[in-house]
Amino acid sequence: MSLDGTYDDGNIFAKILRGEAPAAKVFEDDHVLAFMDVFPQAKGHTLVIPKHSSARNLLEEEPQTLAHLFQGVQRVARAVRAALRPDGLTITQFNGAVSGQTVFHLHVHIIPRWDGVPLGRHGEGGMADAGELKTLAAEIAAKIS
Ligand code: 5GP
Repeated sequence: MSLDGTYDDGNIFAKILRGEAPAAKVFEDDHVLAFMDVFPQAKGHTLVIPKHSSARNLLEEEPQTLAHLFQGVQRVARAVRAALRPDGLTITQFNGAVSGQTVFHLHVHIIPRWDGVPLGRHGEGGMADAGELKTLAAEIAAKIS
């Protein structure tokens, strides 16, 4: 899917927002939802999405919604750091299929990094164990401040 097109509310993140698909939720406020990525590129890979949005990518989003989204990203990233003590955090966001985007509801990746541990390939990792994701989500949620 290119940068042009229309929002499809059948995408998996829209389903998670409507409660039609499961997710290991980390954090939620009026503006954003954070949950564990089921194909993590590293332990603790977390996604943050705007709750009230039909933007497929960053270019389509309202500036005010972006402000709320990135406030949420910072808050969750701090909690990921506090919970998992990584050496760094890779924070990414893809726009258009050619860039690597596979789900067309705007979202931001928070990926903890440890010295000597290579980043898993985007979209090519195996599915994580649901119980492990739930445990990680609870550990991160406990550090939200
Ligand atoms: P994108 O490739 O669009 O930047 O990121 C989409 C992300 O969503 C990928 O990292 C992928 O692993 C993740 N993902 C795909 N399907 C699901 C799902 O059903 N649940 C969750 N939690 N993550 C998903």
